[in-house]
Amino acid sequence: MTNDNTLTSQDLTDINSDDFSQAYQQFVKAGDLISLTRQFEQGFAQTGRDNQLNFNAKEAKVSLLDTGILLVEPTGSVKSSKRIVISSGIHGNETAPIEIVQQLISDIVAQDIQVKHPTLFIMGHPVAMNIAKRFETENLNRLFCGKHQTIEPCYEKYRAEKLEQYVSDFFNAGTNDVTNYHYDLHTAIRSSKYEKFAIYPYQGDKPWDKEQLSFMAGCGVNTILFGHGPTGTFSYFSSANFAAHAFTVELGKVRAFGENDMSNFQAAADKISALVCDEDLLLKDFDNNDFNLFEALGDITKVSDNFKLFVDDAASNFTDYPIGTVLSTDTGEEYRTTKHGESVVFPNANVGNGQRAALIVVPTTLS
Ligand SMILES: [Zn+2]
Repeated sequence: MTNDNTLTSQDLTDINSDDFSQAYQQFVKAGDLISLTRQFEQGFAQTGRDNQLNFNAKEAKVSLLDTGILLVEPTGSVKSSKRIVISSGIHGNETAPIEIVQQLISDIVAQDIQVKHPTLFIMGHPVAMNIAKRFETENLNRLFCGKHQTIEPCYEKYRAEKLEQYVSDFFNAGTNDVTNYHYDLHTAIRSSKYEKFAIYPYQGDKPWDKEQLSFMAGCGVNTILFGHGPTGTFSYFSSANFAAHAFTVELGKVRAFGENDMSNFQAAADKISALVCDEDLLLKDFDNNDFNLFEALGDITKVSDNFKLFVDDAASNFTDYPIGTVLSTDTGEEYRTTKHGESVVFPNANVGNGQRAALIVVPTTLS
């Protein structure tokens, strides 16, 4: 079978029919979406809304739309005010978020919890999950907002297009008075001065939503980096196209399946569960003093082969440097800090000329 975006439904039927129905029945019984997704990383023949792969949970219909993509819709008569996307594993080795999503799905299938708002659960990158890597060929979280169209065929190109389509269909099915949400859950590769942090996608002229920041704090995430421009991330896709309250949430450091201390993620799991089950979120009012808020000051861009970055690739995110520190040099220029609290996020000297080697941020507050 090919590993590009030319999979046909014939390929998929060949891989699986009987094996798939057995595995699917097992999923309906036990609710183990990780197992089903890893068994069928390339997908299966029946996909989409009308594939008949659905069953009932507690006053809800559960539909498996594609590998790693599960839709849960309340069947009661109360009109729902929210549509929610909870995505995980966009980077395949970021296992804790996948396990958070798995726990929710287990609880739903076991009928221990009742979903009150239509929710789309996503395990984003089954192929990378199976090889325990961030990605196979391309970083999936840079390919949204149509950026997948600009790259050569690879699994991520195919998957980004599919994910965009499922999320678009999901939000488009809502009415105008419904509020959209998308929390894209990650864990970071490097350590961070603040273990948990979230990136709030660029909002253009719209103000940052303080209630959403309170929700993040409730999830145990009180360090927020405000996005400073359009990007190709999954959360930006939902924010920009569907006015969703959306975040890329970094919940700690990458570990292997089964090695996560899930108590470290309990606050996030509980708040997300309360959100989809329409329970009281018990949020504290926004107060600047409860947060570390950062805004972008700019990028350090590698211009030439003479580029030198004086921040170690292994340096913790949000490491701050005194005013006057030289952070990089390049042909005929240098970057020297000029502001109090200037900090470096995502340093990476091994980028091509013209690409970002580090993001520089400074502390900020909301008025
Ligand atoms: Zn990630």
